[in-house]
Amino acid sequence: MPELAEVEVTRRQLLPLLGLTVACAEKLSDKNLRLPLGKGDLGRLSGARLDAIDRRGKYLIWHFLGADGVPLEMVVHLGMSGKTLLDAADASPHDHLRWHWSQGATLTYRDVRRFGFVAVGDVGLGTEMTATMGPEPWDETWAAQVAAKAKKGSRSVKALLMDQSVAAGLGNIYVCEALFATGIHPETPAYKLKNKQIEALHEAVQGVLERAIAAGGSSIQDFKAAHGSPGYFQLELKVYGRAGEGCPACGEEIRAIKQQGRTTFFCARCQR
Ligand SMILES: [Zn+2]
Repeated sequence: MPELAEVEVTRRQLLPLLGLTVACAEKLSDKNLRLPLGKGDLGRLSGARLDAIDRRGKYLIWHFLGADGVPLEMVVHLGMSGKTLLDAADASPHDHLRWHWSQGATLTYRDVRRFGFVAVGDVGLGTEMTATMGPEPWDETWAAQVAAKAKKGSRSVKALLMDQSVAAGLGNIYVCEALFATGIHPETPAYKLKNKQIEALHEAVQGVLERAIAAGGSSIQDFKAAHGSPGYFQLELKVYGRAGEGCPACGEEIRAIKQQGRTTFFCARCQR
């Protein structure tokens, strides 16, 4: 599933669209995505000029100036398998939407599992949809905000960091990697974390995401960004997806356990 790094890579590849106008937005399938599009939503985009694309967590928030001079927003969430492809080289039965832009560019929303969505609405839609989201990784108050939430309840540090209302944009891959980098066992109760450990987690989260973005994201389960090219960070993952292999730090066999229905990868010797 695309996490913050993959969504940010996608956002950066879409920036050449800034300043272009939507000629029309077209529905290519009758299948619903996670949220159905409202009647007329796509029509509002006709003649609208794209001014900015922001990211909040795993959400892309597109800012347009409508043909009638009224600003509007489009929110895109890639779900498990969504892709926004610029000038897609091929067609797929899983193509759901296509935006035709001035100067002939096209953008296609492709989503095999259809857990993603596209929503169009007034200014503020993006803020509204991400209102309960925790801090971005580059927020200076990240550690303080996460520490405050860690004290409540008895859940594990893995569950804590996977919760979008605690920390925005993190998913299974980068949580596993950040916990390995900090030597924290994924089943550690979050309330037992020391402030120093949470500060170390903040640094690890930033580091792993920055390296993943630079490598074009991790292409697990066929992630491709807007250019249709895969990322390469999966080659640099230390524990994620490596059950049974030797730990890169100590050689101990990397283990896989289930937490909240998701597989956690870790080294039982390095992470305590
Ligand atoms: Zn190890």
